[in-house]
Amino acid sequence: MSENTTTTTTAPTENLRERALKLDATDPLAGRRALFALDDGVYLDGNSLGALPVHVPARVQDVLTRQWGELRIRSWDESGWWTAPERIGDRIAPLVGAAAGQIVVGDSTSVNVFKAVVAAVRIAGEGRDEILVDATTFPTDGYIASAAARLTGHRIVPVAPADVLAALGPRTAAVLLNHVDYRSGRLHDLPGLTAAVHAAGAVAVWDLCHSAGALPVGLDEHRVDLAVGCTYKYLNGGPGSPAYLYVAERHQAVFDSPLPGWNSHADPFGMTAGYAPADGSVRGRVGTPDIVSMLTLEAALDVWDGVSVDAVRAKSLALTDFFLECVEAYVPAGRVVSVTPAAHAERGSQVALRCAEAEPVMRRLIERGVVGDLRRPDVLRFGFTPLYVGFADAERAARILADVLAEVPAGDTVG
Ligand SMILES: *Cc1c(COP(=O)(O)O)cnc(C)c1O
Repeated sequence: MSENTTTTTTAPTENLRERALKLDATDPLAGRRALFALDDGVYLDGNSLGALPVHVPARVQDVLTRQWGELRIRSWDESGWWTAPERIGDRIAPLVGAAAGQIVVGDSTSVNVFKAVVAAVRIAGEGRDEILVDATTFPTDGYIASAAARLTGHRIVPVAPADVLAALGPRTAAVLLNHVDYRSGRLHDLPGLTAAVHAAGAVAVWDLCHSAGALPVGLDEHRVDLAVGCTYKYLNGGPGSPAYLYVAERHQAVFDSPLPGWNSHADPFGMTAGYAPADGSVRGRVGTPDIVSMLTLEAALDVWDGVSVDAVRAKSLALTDFFLECVEAYVPAGRVVSVTPAAHAERGSQVALRCAEAEPVMRRLIERGVVGDLRRPDVLRFGFTPLYVGFADAERAARILADVLAEVPAGDTVG
């Protein structure tokens, strides 16, 4: 083989591998990877379940053996159990651009969607009878919003995010939108849509499940009214870790919870018959917090100490750009089509590839240690968590994807 032939046949792979190594060497977040329990596979499913930070098990062990096992009931005060929902909310706040005192942690995202949507239509007041909800949303948001509409006597209006502007009007009470679409990875225009919702006199509720921890949200800056999000995706809080609820300070005094449990009472231990809501973010609480999960999350949030969300965003975009470039270079034309927007302003932190053979392809990828996930019938989803995914990982995932596609012929949807 002449030197010339060698260069032309190996150039794309060699160049991309070399570039990956250089990008990893200058990545200011590269050191964070060592904080996580990972193997030598490529974990691209942190948008479904974030990886475990290695220091967390010892902290949870302390919660169980010392706080619960030895201090028992005293831990509600002495270990800070009672105030954990607000304290941990304040840890999440800077990651989503919120000042302290507006976020409370607890319950699932689904439950918080319910609280937020009902509270939003109550804030909007009489005379508005429609709730607009992202028709492309993660289904639970739509189910819950529909139930909230039924209970409050509103009409649900499913609408694609691109059509929200046209659907807004004097009848709109509240709008529930996703910041990043869980399937395509499309990032929606939170500042612009929030301003439009306000111009129509309605209340904006954002679901941050796929944006918090991956990109700047700017809740206060963009005057979002209410927001919810989960903590087990990019925030690495662990399986089923509690979600959070943001209520902008200007709405807290009128936040009227549909689930006014005793934990949200102004005097919970007064055990009085009548309900009187607490002030501030506490009003978003319901019942006894899920302490073990909550303190697991609190420990996991340590990995964010000293991290700027802008740096996370810069790396996320560079990673998804680089992955798409590697896919373009390695994968034969026509086998996959990116459904993730090319424009940075419209992209979250994942790449979704439409692929007719998605099911057998993802199965084989996982067998080879490249863990993404499948959104049936035909979407391969790869989440890029900037705290622990590197450029060499992106290159390797694309290379193995090309290998797998070579084994699964076009049209073989069973594999
Ligand atoms: C992950 C996710 C949820 C999860 O809801 P749970 O109540 O935690 O199961 C809800 N909504 C969206 C948009 C999500 O991405």
